[in-house]
Amino acid sequence: MPDIHTFVPRISSSLLQADAPSLLTFNSAHPNISIITPSSPDYSTVHQEYNCCNTTVPLAIIFPINVAQLVAAIKYCTSQSPPIAITVRGGGHDAYGRNALAGAVQLDLRLMKWTKISPPESESRYGNATVTVGPGTTAIEMQRALDAVGLAAPTGWLGTVGVIGWACGGGYGLEAGMWGLGVDNIVGAKLVTPEGVLVDTDGDADLLWAVRGAGLGNFGVICELRLKAYPNPRYLAGFLIFPLVEGERVFGGFQRMNDEEGIPRNFSAELTVNTTQLGPSVNFLFAWITEKDEEVAAGWAYLGKLKALGTVLLDTVAETSILKFHEFIHTEPDFNARGYTTMHSLALPRLSPDLIRMVMDRPPPANGTSAILFHHAHGRALQIDPTTAWAHRDEHYIWTLCGFAKPDATPQEQEVPEGWSDNMFRTAFEAHLGLEKAYWSLSRPEHCDAVRYFGLETVNRLRELKKKYNPGNVFPAALPVLEYM
Ligand SMILES: Cc1cc2nc3c(=O)[nH]c(=O)nc-3n(C[C@H](O)[C@H](O)[C@H](O)COP(=O)(O)OP(=O)(O)OC[C@H]3O[C@@H](n4cnc5c(N)ncnc54)[C@H](O)[C@@H]3O)c2cc1C
Repeated sequence: MPDIHTFVPRISSSLLQADAPSLLTFNSAHPNISIITPSSPDYSTVHQEYNCCNTTVPLAIIFPINVAQLVAAIKYCTSQSPPIAITVRGGGHDAYGRNALAGAVQLDLRLMKWTKISPPESESRYGNATVTVGPGTTAIEMQRALDAVGLAAPTGWLGTVGVIGWACGGGYGLEAGMWGLGVDNIVGAKLVTPEGVLVDTDGDADLLWAVRGAGLGNFGVICELRLKAYPNPRYLAGFLIFPLVEGERVFGGFQRMNDEEGIPRNFSAELTVNTTQLGPSVNFLFAWITEKDEEVAAGWAYLGKLKALGTVLLDTVAETSILKFHEFIHTEPDFNARGYTTMHSLALPRLSPDLIRMVMDRPPPANGTSAILFHHAHGRALQIDPTTAWAHRDEHYIWTLCGFAKPDATPQEQEVPEGWSDNMFRTAFEAHLGLEKAYWSLSRPEHCDAVRYFGLETVNRLRELKKKYNPGNVFPAALPVLEYM
């Protein structure tokens, strides 16, 4: 089976003529730049993304391998009359397919993978280490490169997610309490504008502000992102699993602990509810992160407090490293063996009794992979930072209902997780259990409203910047959508 990393697709002129004649001149001028079109025999395997139900068929997919090729592709598309619309694909995890559009060229950046590290001893003006990634670099690839030199950086849970898509869109994860969200860790970026001009946020503080929360395609294609990196901390991590029938005690007790003493910034507070061999369960993805040896004991003590919340079905918490724990999550076999069906997401202010009751009454379908995920924003993630466009700094949970079916599921089998996710979301939404601000990286497009999320003043500032860098809106699948009113 062709793999995009080892197989570079070539296209015949006759196929290009039939599928995308507007790219014939580009192909003759740049024969080394790979293109694939929907009729190419390898299209379906090369085009794979996380949600196999995303079936939008683009005009063609172009695979640049470096910035010069990316610039050439963008310049060509935008200089045509009429211009050819462009979408961008990084790690391919947008659940709603917002990396492709019918009739548009998709720039697939998976081959533009690199990781460069400036160690802390260097003259970094952030006084710390930084890591520079290419637009095809995934979370686990960045963690591996950093760990090899004794460093780490925050990422999301899953190793295959693109670093740029995750970080620029918000970036929740196990290290957010201590190190902040992805947006908080961005220190710079290079973008290719629609005219094919390379700009660096070092020359425009406003552009850096915008990239930190609203930069996915609005101002150009990000061809390099620079992030803070940290010396490998002491790290306790593992799964702490309770039966869902004790949900009221476990969730309620956890919310009480939070109300009474707050959640330590060292702790991740990320949760899942799913049905495994242990039955329907509540699962803390326990992670305790500290740069101080003396705070490790506090981590074990906090684990003890959590264990007292209910009957522990499984406790795998051990001292490990960020890379090892992420590798463990990454290699869970189910992650690669499911076909995605449906997803909904809502931001919650707290784990209210009504919410807990609803989760207990309607657990995810017991197919082993459907799940409710809770990303928690606390600690450093709540620090208001006027140098980021990011606008959600009150404590909250991102509550995501993931309904999955097996890749070979029949339409009837797909209806079960789909109906569960739809009904659960609607009930919570209508009961006003959620906040106005959706996390647009995980929320359905129809629930993402930039003005509700960022506020009109921020949206107007973003629109002004967009007029400067991308007046023609040549990346129509950009996130967030700034054109709604
Ligand atoms: C299984 C799964 C797990 C997830 N886990 C987390 C998590 O733990 N925490 C969290 O916060 N989020 C999580 N997410 C959400 C995820 O971070 C976002 O969907 C993210 O945008 C995915 O980035 P990608 O590059 O993999 O996806 P893509 O689909 O390739 O890209 C997503 C969007 O970003 C744009 N884009 C990507 N690269 C660029 C670029 N270089 N320049 C301009 N635009 C670009 C694309 O056009 C598209 O609109 C998860 C999603 C999934 C499906």
